[in-house]
Amino acid sequence: NQVCDPQTTHVFKSKLPDIPISNHIPLHAYCFEKLSDFADRPCLIVGAASKTYTYAETHLISRKIAAGLSNLGIRKGDVVMILLQNSAEFVFSFLAASMIGAVGTTANPFYTAAEIFKQFTVSKAKLIITQAMYVDKLRHHDGTNLGEDFKVVTVDDPPENCLHFSVLSEANESEVPEVEIHPDDAVAMPFSSGTTGLPKGVVLTHKSLTTSVAQQVDGENPNLYLTTEDVLLCVLPLFHIFSLNSVLLCALRAGSGVLLMQKFEIGTLLELIQRHRVSVAMVVPPLVLALAKNPMVADFDLSSIRLVLSGAAPLGKELEEALRNRVPQAVLGQGYGMTEAGPVLSMCLGFAKQPFPTKSGSCGTVVRNAELKVVDPETGRSLGYNQPGEICIRGQQIMKGYLNDEKATALTIDSEGWLHTGDVGYVDDDDEIFIVDRVKELIKFKGFQVPPAELEGLLVSHPSIADAAVVPQKDVAAGEVPVAFVVRSNGFDLTEEAVKEFIAKQVVFYKRLHKVYFVHAIPKSPSGKILRKDLRAKLESAATQT
Ligand code: AMP
Repeated sequence: NQVCDPQTTHVFKSKLPDIPISNHIPLHAYCFEKLSDFADRPCLIVGAASKTYTYAETHLISRKIAAGLSNLGIRKGDVVMILLQNSAEFVFSFLAASMIGAVGTTANPFYTAAEIFKQFTVSKAKLIITQAMYVDKLRHHDGTNLGEDFKVVTVDDPPENCLHFSVLSEANESEVPEVEIHPDDAVAMPFSSGTTGLPKGVVLTHKSLTTSVAQQVDGENPNLYLTTEDVLLCVLPLFHIFSLNSVLLCALRAGSGVLLMQKFEIGTLLELIQRHRVSVAMVVPPLVLALAKNPMVADFDLSSIRLVLSGAAPLGKELEEALRNRVPQAVLGQGYGMTEAGPVLSMCLGFAKQPFPTKSGSCGTVVRNAELKVVDPETGRSLGYNQPGEICIRGQQIMKGYLNDEKATALTIDSEGWLHTGDVGYVDDDDEIFIVDRVKELIKFKGFQVPPAELEGLLVSHPSIADAAVVPQKDVAAGEVPVAFVVRSNGFDLTEEAVKEFIAKQVVFYKRLHKVYFVHAIPKSPSGKILRKDLRAKLESAATQT
C-alpha cells in the first residue's frame, strides 16, 4: 500500500492502537491456534438437536472431512460449494476446505435452482455439500446430471447418484494431505454484486480473513471482547460473510461457544437464548424489531445477554431504543460491513475491555490495522470530519478481487489499494462513523442483497418488456424492497401481477418485486446509465403525496 499524502488525504484510524497480526498462517490454523487452551470447552451447540461439539471434536471432525474431500479428489484451489442451512456440517465443511487449501463458496439454500447453478458455474465448483431436499430442487434444472457431471454429498439420506456425508466424516484424519498454503490463497468465495452489476465471486484469502478476525477480537489480553465463557447466537445465515466471519470465525479464535440455529423462529430463539445463556447476539435490524416488539420476549429470561451487535443494514434510533428497554443490561451497538471488505469496516467499541461509549445510530469506529477515508463522489477529493462522502477502506482484510473480473475489481479497488464501498457516510468529531445513504445500486431487503441488475436482466428477457429499471423503496419491516419501472414493448396487455409472477418464479423470496410501475421510458444518462436517483426521487415524492 502506498503512503497517503497527508496534504491531500484525511485518513481515519481506529481509536485503539494497531496490533501485531500473524496473518501469514492459514485461516483454520489461526482459528485453532489456541486450541489446547480450550480443547474441552463447548464449541458448537446445535440448537435443534441440543448436541454440543467441543473444540477438540470440531477440530478432529473437520480434519476427517478434509481427508475425505481429498479422497474425493478435491485439491488445493478447488472450489467446494456449501449449500446448507446453519449446522455443524456447514462449519466442519468450511474448515475442512481451508485445511486442504480448497475454497468454500457459500450460497443460500433457498435460492432457486437457476440462482444456485449460476453461482456453481461461475465459481467452477467441483462438489456440492447439501441436503437431499435441495438436490430435488436442483434435479429439475435443465440439462445437468447431478452426481455425474459433478459430485454431490448430502448430510442426510442421499438421493440417487449422490454420496452420504459419512464418506467425508468417516475418513482417516491421518490422511489429510500436506498442503502449502500461501496467505494470498483464496479460502472463501461468497457472492456479492458490490457497487454495480450482477453477483460476482468475492475472493477472500487466508490473509483477508485472519486479518479481519484479528481486527475484531485479537489484541487485548487475551481478546478484545470475546471470552471462552461467551456463547454467541448464530441465527444469521452462515452463507453470509457477516455470520461466517463475525460470529463463527471470531468465536473460534476466542474459544467461545456458538449456538447454531437453522432458522429464525422467535419462540425457539428466545427459549434457546434462555437455556444456553447466550451472552452475545449478532443480529440484523429485522431481528432487532422482533426482539424489541414481540410480546413473547417478556416471558423469557434474557439477562445473560451482555452485547447485541447489529449489522448488514442500517438500524434506526427508535428501534435501538426499543431494544434497550428489553435488554437494559446489554451494550447495544452496530457494526458496518461489506462482503468485499472482508467484511467488517467498523464496529462499536462500547463493549471492549476499555469501552468507548458509542452514540445511537453510529456504526462505531474503523477497525484496527486499517485506514478509512471519505471522498467526494464527484471529485474524488478526500473529506475531513463531519463531511458526508463515499466511504473507502484500505488494509490487508479486503478482498483480493472479484473472481475472473478484472474490470469490476478495478472499479472497486483503486490503484492505491482503496476499496470504494458505494456507501455515503461521515466521521464525527469522536471518530464515529455514520452511514447516511448509498450511491451504489444495491438494494437490501432485511440485510439480504437484491442486485437490481439481476432483476433488470430477467425483466428484459420477457418478450413483452422493452426496458426496465429496479430501485429500492423504503419499507418499515424490510428496510428496503425492490420495485420496478417497466416499459412494455407491445400494447397494454402485460399486467403488474404477470410481471411480479414472472420474476417470483425465478428468484429467491427476498428478490421478489413489490410493485411495478409502467412507464414510457426509463430515464438514462447520455452514456446509457439508468438514472436511478431520478427514479428513487419519483418514488419518494409519490410516497409523500399519499
Ligand atoms: P453485504 O456485502 O451483503 O454485507 O452488504 C454490504 C452493504 O450493506 C454495505 O455496503 C451497506 O450498504 C450495508 N450495510 C452493512 N452494514 C450496515 C450498517 N450498519 N448500516 C448501514 N448500512 C449497512
